[in-house]
Amino acid sequence: MSNAGLVTGRGESLLVDTLYDLRLTKTMLDTLTPLTSTAPISVVVNTHGNGDHWFGNQLVAHADIVAARGSVEDMRQVGPAEMHALTIADSAGGRFAQRIFGRFDYTGIEPVLPDRVFDGEMFLNVGGTEVCLIDVGPAHSAGDTIVYVPQARTVYTGDIVFAGAAPIVWHGPFERWLAACDVLLGLDADTVVPGHGPVTTKNAVREIRDYLEYVHEQATTRFTAGMPAMDAARDIRLGRFADLHESERLAVNVHTVYRALDPSLPPLDGPALFGCMAELCPRV
Ligand SMILES: [Zn+2]
Repeated sequence: MSNAGLVTGRGESLLVDTLYDLRLTKTMLDTLTPLTSTAPISVVVNTHGNGDHWFGNQLVAHADIVAARGSVEDMRQVGPAEMHALTIADSAGGRFAQRIFGRFDYTGIEPVLPDRVFDGEMFLNVGGTEVCLIDVGPAHSAGDTIVYVPQARTVYTGDIVFAGAAPIVWHGPFERWLAACDVLLGLDADTVVPGHGPVTTKNAVREIRDYLEYVHEQATTRFTAGMPAMDAARDIRLGRFADLHESERLAVNVHTVYRALDPSLPPLDGPALFGCMAELCPRV
């Protein structure tokens, strides 16, 4: 469901993200053995604090695990126990979460948090390969790291880019995500590895940027007119973005715009946000 990446150097490698459960992460690590037998994983970067990018950490606990400060805060709040509780909740949100996450197995996952936390930027030399970590969050989550490998003209975006699917603005602000897209567009990179979806190019970054601008504008207009958030989510026509997978994420995105415009609005917890998406899903 989510992407990870391996950056190799002389005698060592850096892994970008682990996967959502132990079985998936083990399969990936086994598949990488031809590379990692001569260049073992010495550093792991978790791009952010959503489980599909770090729940496999215990299988690479021997390495130095690095993440942005905000990402670690998210990991502390929502670990495997919380995700399991969400998927068994007897509610519309719980059933919707089960539909999405039911194929993953949280059994045996011990939350292994990063050993090293950074703010802003961090530069690493992985056996002669230069790697630049930039925290462009808070945007999708409280901390969103992009991993740039200049000599490969490649960037791993974490969930700042979903290729072929709608982005989901769990945290925001939107402005910060738009700025993150501009950082990506400014890099000397031809290969963009998104958090989800096929390996792509900067065109996918432009698509995400356009979607965010459009949704922000549409939601703001309805907020100003006094329309409640869920009504606005039902009312907005996505136009050229309607074919994106998981378009029901619009419900969360509208909620995030509303909360930014009126901070006195009560925040919704995970189950409530999944409930909002479930409500929007039959329509799309
Ligand atoms: Zn993800």
